[in-house]
Amino acid sequence: MKFPIIDMHCDLLSYLARIPGATPYEKGEIACAIPWLQAGNVRMQILAIYTDVKSESMDMAMRQAQIFSDLLAKHDSDIAFTDADFLLNWEKQNRIGVMAAIENAAGLGNEEASWEEIYSQFDGILAKVNKLAYIGLTHHTENRFGGGNYTEGIGLKDDGKKLLDYISGKNIPIDFSHTSDLLAEGILDHIDRQNLKIPVIASHSNFREIYTHPRNLTDEFAKEIIHRGGIIGVNFLRAFLDPEVPERLFDHIFHGFQIGGAESICFGADYFYTKDFEDASRHPFYFPLVENAGKYPSLIESLEDKLSEDQLINLSYRNSLEFYRKIQN
Ligand SMILES: [Zn+2]
Repeated sequence: MKFPIIDMHCDLLSYLARIPGATPYEKGEIACAIPWLQAGNVRMQILAIYTDVKSESMDMAMRQAQIFSDLLAKHDSDIAFTDADFLLNWEKQNRIGVMAAIENAAGLGNEEASWEEIYSQFDGILAKVNKLAYIGLTHHTENRFGGGNYTEGIGLKDDGKKLLDYISGKNIPIDFSHTSDLLAEGILDHIDRQNLKIPVIASHSNFREIYTHPRNLTDEFAKEIIHRGGIIGVNFLRAFLDPEVPERLFDHIFHGFQIGGAESICFGADYFYTKDFEDASRHPFYFPLVENAGKYPSLIESLEDKLSEDQLINLSYRNSLEFYRKIQN
């Protein structure tokens, strides 16, 4: 059966912003090119605005927000903005619904920016992209808001608290995919103490119980996300699944169901431009079974004897769809 797919994370925008001459239609260049999404029956794709911690991060983020808006204007026969009507009339859509998200709040505020500049950047990006599917405070490294995956011992900083306070009540989830454990803990703690209204998710993360890696979620945080009604998008990167074992992808998915995530587990493939990535050990970035978004139907097929139809529907699109329907109310 060819299920519609919702995918919570790809880096098409930073590819288009960084690579001269890049187009969203070049199948040989990026695994989430529009023809791959169409082949995979991906009906909704979150497009991350990704930036490093650099002084130009705010310009880079604004450029990607502009690219998002231009994509919608230029390619409206293939893609559509995921507005309330799109979510409500999901079955009737024949275009790919897209929504932008922030991967690394360095795009909202570099290390030098004043709060006035941060608020104006936030509002400026939101004006271009209409709605944010989620915000992640950090990437792998540390920034003014907190500590990323590879910064053990650095948690939520005062600027991180201030940004959370600003996000509260705006129906924008906070993403745990690139937090240090201490940052994840700090965010939950601050949300609870201040009684903030911020959904929590992990847009593209696997489970540390299945494969030990700082990019993967501990069961403690995964269960916390589930308990709070959030979603967890399974990541397809070989490095985070288990670099030697393609089938480990199934174990991560099953684990999500086993720990109570039947209504939380979804896809967050994490396709990005890999050609200029220097670390040779990361190549190939994806196992053949999920090497591009066109592989979704065959992936679903190989799960058919392992999951019930109901579970497959939840995983493919229903959990993410219901999550976004729910938080916009
Ligand atoms: Zn990422």
